[in-house]
Amino acid sequence: MPPSIRLHNTLTRRLETLEPIEPGTVGIYTCGSTVYKYAHIGNLRTYLFGDVLHRTLEYLGHEVRYVKNITDVGHMRDDDHDSLHGEDKIEQAAETEGKTPEQIADFYTEAWLEDERLLNILPADVMPKATDHVPEMIDITARLLERGLAYEVDGTIYYDVSAFPAYGQLSGQRVDETHAGHRVDVETDKRDPADFALWKRAGEHRLMKWPSPWGAGFPGWHIECSAMSLKHLGERFDIHTGGIDLKFPHHEDEIAQSEGALGHRVVSIWMHGEFLTMADAKMAKSTGNVVRVADLPEMGHEPIAFRYLALTAHYRSKLDFTADAMHAAASGLARLRRAVASGATDDQSVDLAAEPIASYRSRFIDAVAEDLAIPRALAVAHEVASAPRLTDRQRRRLLLDFDRVLGLELDAPVAGEEAPLPQGAAELLERRAAAREARDFATSDALRDELAALGVEVRDTAAGQETTIRWT
Ligand code: AMP
Ligand code: ZN
Repeated sequence: MPPSIRLHNTLTRRLETLEPIEPGTVGIYTCGSTVYKYAHIGNLRTYLFGDVLHRTLEYLGHEVRYVKNITDVGHMRDDDHDSLHGEDKIEQAAETEGKTPEQIADFYTEAWLEDERLLNILPADVMPKATDHVPEMIDITARLLERGLAYEVDGTIYYDVSAFPAYGQLSGQRVDETHAGHRVDVETDKRDPADFALWKRAGEHRLMKWPSPWGAGFPGWHIECSAMSLKHLGERFDIHTGGIDLKFPHHEDEIAQSEGALGHRVVSIWMHGEFLTMADAKMAKSTGNVVRVADLPEMGHEPIAFRYLALTAHYRSKLDFTADAMHAAASGLARLRRAVASGATDDQSVDLAAEPIASYRSRFIDAVAEDLAIPRALAVAHEVASAPRLTDRQRRRLLLDFDRVLGLELDAPVAGEEAPLPQGAAELLERRAAAREARDFATSDALRDELAALGVEVRDTAAGQETTIRWT
């Protein structure tokens, strides 16, 4: 039996002990990216939270079925969410970039997954695409119509929020308040501003559209996650995650759809991660307040240092991205890696169940099993890194065991010792090698100074130039 784990359920606003519907296996659904633009490190903080949950459950001995979707249709620009002429973000990007919607979705999906790889986020077991689940979305919509929970207006189907009494239970919004965040002057034919679209009639210029019993159209934003979660995890599953802004309307609407169609509870625990901020404002594409994973090396950091930074805050607390915080994260990471590097690699013979190792391990487990208290778990890792009563081998064994949750590649070389080169350094090194070949030592020395300015120290050995990178 895996040790028990308590998780904060947004629905009940309490910590609850996870009781898997199918003992030993935990089903998790995470709302994935809308693939019309590059993901920023704020989005990735939310996926890192899902990854830590995934890894923690596996570490504790559960089998996990992890589903993370790709939103490649239907997500409207926020400000005209349910208006009759709203533009689909992906179609809009296709128009701007002169590509097809599929090309846009494929390109940004690949970019997002590459960012996830760089942050050591484990791949999900299933990554369903919304566009592959349109028939399922139509089925649920038809079922909601049959059950009197939806109505049609001219080829568009709206959910009738007043017919689902539990509406608002997740976000705490009352139905009469739910339109407060929506623009009131938006042109719409809904009966009530709180209602939301399940299916929309396709306008004349719409590229992505499908036949349906109500004519050609396309899905609303929320129905896709009902369709993909029910299909890939079944009619009841354990955990659903996303960023805090998805609580309303996205997840409130998903509950109304899935539970309305099935007539019973579907998700046991809803978990939401807080925002990454920068200059104390939410990191958001719309305000241009963004940093991408690809920007980190130019800032002098390897991407995993951002993973470390994300681990220093609890997932339900805001985290501010600053240069100082990144420096501190990079040095914390280097410290753990150094402790691992000092141990012999035959660490597998060290018994994790023997003292004094076992008590560190049980403190680590207590932390992760208490609503993913990763900052506390990280503090245990740092204690291990310097505990005088542990041998180097024991230290290495324990830290690499913790790394199954932390995902920091603690057995990688310490940054600065064998890390990727900063931008422009490779070309300088090439030019310097050529200068040395030509015995032009003045140029070679000048290039050495240029490299030093980038943080790259060069030594000349019989085998050629060797480099050390100083991550500033
Ligand atoms: P999107 O691609 O806009 O659907 O967002 C993908 C995920 O990122 C969602 O779970 C959002 O809640 C989350 N998200 C958006 N902005 C931030 C932020 N600044 N910090 C953390 N998560 C965010
Ligand atoms: Zn979703």
